[in-house]
Amino acid sequence: MSELISENIRKPNRMPWVVPIYCDGCASCVNRCRSGNLIMTETNVEGVYVPWLAEPEKCSGCANCTDACAMGAITMTSYVNEAILRFKEKKPVINT
Ligand code: SF4
Ligand code: SF4
Repeated sequence: MSELISENIRKPNRMPWVVPIYCDGCASCVNRCRSGNLIMTETNVEGVYVPWLAEPEKCSGCANCTDACAMGAITMTSYVNEAILRFKEKKPVINT
């Protein structure tokens, strides 16, 4: 895995995986995140925002965000390194 992810950092055993196309932008997940770094972030579509982790290492893996989503737009994955890299290296994309 990438050198961007130190083996020494504490990581949860699961992390959120956002599916931007399903998100309606309600921000319920953001309001339920106690880590405070799940924030609404602009996608490749101007004016359309979805949740994205600013500092994924601070995610506890609590799944409060997933529980808050009625749209199935934020699920938990055990592919933690891949999820961290995605949050760090990419912006959310809605394929149009
Ligand atoms: S799993 Fe918990 S800490 Fe991580 S983004 Fe979701 S609500 Fe926040
Ligand atoms: S992921 Fe779900 S809860 Fe979060 S903003 Fe999108 S629709 Fe709302």
